[in-house]
Amino acid sequence: MEDDLSPSEEETRKAEISIDGYIRHAARATEVLGNRWMKDAACAREGMDPEDWFPKNSSDRKSREAARICFEECPVRLVCLRSVCLNPQLFGIFGGIGAGIRRAHKHDYEVLSKFETGYRN
Ligand code: SF4
Repeated sequence: MEDDLSPSEEETRKAEISIDGYIRHAARATEVLGNRWMKDAACAREGMDPEDWFPKNSSDRKSREAARICFEECPVRLVCLRSVCLNPQLFGIFGGIGAGIRRAHKHDYEVLSKFETGYRN
């Protein structure tokens, strides 16, 4: 019996088109907007502690929460990720992904932007 929860080929194709479109959009937005996108950053909201995005231990609770906020609450995540991929010397969590994982994937935005989570269980 066919699995009703599986996306159809058409649904998969549409999702891929929209992800690619967003990636191109994010790349272009970084070029055009410079750093103005940062005003919408979830990590810049009142009450956030910027230090949580620069953990000493990438597996601690605060850094996992910072990565979760990036993925689940930040409207500019892909622009942020694009920006950090262009600046590979940066340390810390950007776009929800820590420096070690970015380095392991050679700061390849096309690969990293397809991650669905920045933290590991
Ligand atoms: S993706 Fe994360 S680090 Fe980047 S702007 Fe958003 S909250 Fe800040």
